[in-house]
Amino acid sequence: MLNPFKKRKWWDSGLKFSCLPNCGKCCNEPDGIVYLSLKDMSRLASFHNLPLKEWISRDCRKSSDGRYILKSKKENKICIYFDDDLNCKVYDSKPDQCSAFPWWNENLVNKESWENTKKICPGIDHPEALIINKKTIKFWTEADKISEKGIRESDLEF
Ligand code: SF4
Ligand code: SF4
Repeated sequence: MLNPFKKRKWWDSGLKFSCLPNCGKCCNEPDGIVYLSLKDMSRLASFHNLPLKEWISRDCRKSSDGRYILKSKKENKICIYFDDDLNCKVYDSKPDQCSAFPWWNENLVNKESWENTKKICPGIDHPEALIINKKTIKFWTEADKISEKGIRESDLEF
């Protein structure tokens, strides 16, 4: 049954987006931060055939408030997994927050934040883009929420 008090989101009728091949603009951002869920960390550790602790110490650092995030390359401050051909080296195991882009909660606050996201992402409103429905958008905003909560050292038992 419909809840008459449930507030409609401005994007409830869907938004136009398709990820463009060979783009990589969302990864190619210096100082980008990728928060990690525990599922992401376990997946990436197995992808690299490393025990979780070892993978964390090799590929993660901590944000200013102690959440684990992916390391960036020293020379350009871009994600360590972004290669010179503009591809993600861990594509099939990439963190949920990467998969969730551009459906991050901060991008969907209002139409203005969505317009700003468009400056980074040419897939938004691209002439050949598809309409993504609210169920899919909601799925990714929930995933983004979990990732952003993040994992701290105290959450892990080694
Ligand atoms: S910026 Fe947008 S179109 Fe480009 S790779 Fe990222 S999500 Fe895809
Ligand atoms: S993990 Fe992959 S998708 Fe995520 S920022 Fe790094 S290169 Fe991009």
